[in-house]
Amino acid sequence: MATRIAIMPLDEVVRLVNEWGTRPREFDGRTGAPADPELTTLADELHPIFAAPPERAARVTALLEQSRVRPVLTDDLAQAWLVEDPRQATRAAAALALREQLAEHPGRIGVCADRQCADVYVDLSPAGRRRFCCLTCQNRARAEAFRKRHATS
Ligand SMILES: [Zn+2]
Repeated sequence: MATRIAIMPLDEVVRLVNEWGTRPREFDGRTGAPADPELTTLADELHPIFAAPPERAARVTALLEQSRVRPVLTDDLAQAWLVEDPRQATRAAAALALREQLAEHPGRIGVCADRQCADVYVDLSPAGRRRFCCLTCQNRARAEAFRKRHATS
């Protein structure tokens, strides 16, 4: 029986990557084996989509292919997405979310610019110039830049 897919809300995609991804975990000092290797695998597939603009499209397409998600029309004439393998449901839901986001707002996802952080974010700011995952990272990076400027002068 096929599983119906709901497109994952973007803040959930972000949470998945930051909570389970190998790099975000390492940068936060969270060591040891992750509790759910399957979610870590998926998070590690998603992380570079936030990081590398040139390969984004190919990576999202590869995830869609891997999950074998397909569009259908339901009996009550609604648009829906299905996967045959329920283990692919989370991958399909996240890939569909990124497909939609990148098609509509290509510049508005990224990886935190702070040197000590690898968390990803979605940029919902009006100007669209967000560079950090959170205020803590932004303040830390600013303080570091300030100190650097004044150490050399
Ligand atoms: Zn950060």
